[in-house]
Amino acid sequence: MRMTPPPGRPGPERNKSRNTRLQMVGIAVLFALVLVLLFNLPGGKAAKEDTPEVTLSGAVQAIKEGKVARLHLNDGSRRATLVLSNGTKVQTAYPVGSGPSLTTTAIEADVKVTAAPNKASSPWMGLLFTLLPVGLLIAFFVFFMGPKMGMNVGKMNKSRRAPIEVPETRFSDVAGSDEAVSELAEVVEFLNTPERFINAGARMPNGVLLVGPPGTGKTLLARAVAGEAGVPFFALSGSDFVETFVGVGASRVRQVFTAARKLGSAIIFIDEIDAVGKARSSQASGSGNEERENTLNQLLVEMDGFSDSGVIVLAATNRADVLDSALTRPGRFDRHITVPAPDRVGRTKILELYARDRRFSRDVDFVSLARRTPGLTGADLSSLMNESALEAARHGSGEITNAHLQAALSTSYMGRARTSAVVTERDRRITAWHEAGHAVAAMLLPHADDPVSVTIVPRGVAGGVTWMGGNDNSFLTRSEAEARLVVAMAGRAAEEYHLDGDYTQGAASDFASATALATSMVTEFGMSPLGPTTRSSYGHVGGAQSDRVGEAVDTLLDQAITNARNLVAGNLPLLEALVRELLVEETVSGQELSVLADRLGDRPAPVYATELHQLP
Ligand code: ADP
Repeated sequence: MRMTPPPGRPGPERNKSRNTRLQMVGIAVLFALVLVLLFNLPGGKAAKEDTPEVTLSGAVQAIKEGKVARLHLNDGSRRATLVLSNGTKVQTAYPVGSGPSLTTTAIEADVKVTAAPNKASSPWMGLLFTLLPVGLLIAFFVFFMGPKMGMNVGKMNKSRRAPIEVPETRFSDVAGSDEAVSELAEVVEFLNTPERFINAGARMPNGVLLVGPPGTGKTLLARAVAGEAGVPFFALSGSDFVETFVGVGASRVRQVFTAARKLGSAIIFIDEIDAVGKARSSQASGSGNEERENTLNQLLVEMDGFSDSGVIVLAATNRADVLDSALTRPGRFDRHITVPAPDRVGRTKILELYARDRRFSRDVDFVSLARRTPGLTGADLSSLMNESALEAARHGSGEITNAHLQAALSTSYMGRARTSAVVTERDRRITAWHEAGHAVAAMLLPHADDPVSVTIVPRGVAGGVTWMGGNDNSFLTRSEAEARLVVAMAGRAAEEYHLDGDYTQGAASDFASATALATSMVTEFGMSPLGPTTRSSYGHVGGAQSDRVGEAVDTLLDQAITNARNLVAGNLPLLEALVRELLVEETVSGQELSVLADRLGDRPAPVYATELHQLP
């Protein structure tokens, strides 16, 4: 549960290609400036010398009086250098067009006249200055508008030039995904000794779908397959195609498959395949849709075209159920391998893998750390280990201790503490009440996960955070789902009490997650007044059915906020005690909260006005 910051704060933005484009435009502009400066430097050499300046009339007078031996004209910069009879040099500037009359005057006075070649008037320079702005304009359009106008020049070239790489990754770099590894080992065997399979009349699947949430190591596994088999690895991402223009996605697919086929055997990895491979009927129409369709068709054509080759396509998705049935037909992605978030044993193995090259103090226990980190994926755990090493380095310690790991764990669950953030006393109090609401509800509700830690130190973008423990259970009971809704609403309920009925925007992300859960309860889990049924959520269908779904979601949410308000009203002494503690200590652990509750005497029971189980 996080206290949502007010809207309008800038978020971190990562957009590599846009940055490179900006850089290139920057370079082009700089280059142009340098050119302009170079050719427009006034006076060339003469200007740099310390030649005394005289007035034009003075200069003409001197010429007429025969005091000048030589006159050098630079019509480009409109400067004249006069060498006097005694050898001294003076210079003067003259207006546009007066060069010829100055020359005539000098010749008439028997002064030797020389002139500098006029650089700016050279036909090449003229051409350059005419073309430069045009060139800049073209550069601007290519770099900024290119992708939107179908001129995807940069991207196409890049993909053509992509180096062919055989990854160093091995199966030993993947931990806790033993089943996926053993299934993929067969693919490696096929790539290594295809004869064995072909002689036995076996056909290897052209495509293997890796299904699992982000960060579970699907890309890593695909690279490991290529690394183990010693074959090149090509990577494409489904989301790349969605924003590009008609024809680009399909042509990249063709390029990659052609290149892979030329090499004989290779692994082609398509990340986020659902971005192109979503079932066609469920898509809204639009130009992005057409591109998706083109790319998908091209992919199907390519996959049908290489049944006997050693090219295997691995694709990753979080949702196999949304894929177009054309993709999952035999001969295409007909093998599915699940890559789930790791369980406790898997997490231990991943932690141990990343501990290999790091020094840990003896008080570190990976088994118990794994027990406390349900829900974390391989990517999370790898960054947790890295964060703990950074923490140790920050403290100048040569080895990573349990304390460093704890600090890293708080960061990975709750975001980095922003100790320098300026928070007003009013906001601190509101945050303390809001978070205390979540924490107390989480502790008191029997079906809710217990709070691990609650803090009012701003972390990440949040004003305060309550970190809820999780569990490794795969099933979510209806009571647990309802308890989660109440815990989510308890932040707002506590604010309402603290501000005498008023409240802030701080609960926005609580509402978002509660609404998402309630919608799943209604449309997928059959945990609502609509009963045991699957419904389309109201984003997709209009009409009466969507109204009923909406009503059922609202019922669940209304009930949750009512229960949260009652829970707050029924447990004020505990809430007040926690708020006081938070305002002093800033962070309170779940155990400390338990002690606080025990000190208040009998642990208060949660009070509900509406029964949680009143639904049919
Ligand atoms: P996905 O493709 O499923 O989103 P990635 O393969 O990109 O996940 O994982 C990101 C990173 O997380 C990997 O490069 C690796 O460092 C780490 N990682 C994820 N899962 C594992 C795992 N099972 N074993 C070891 N490292 C893992």
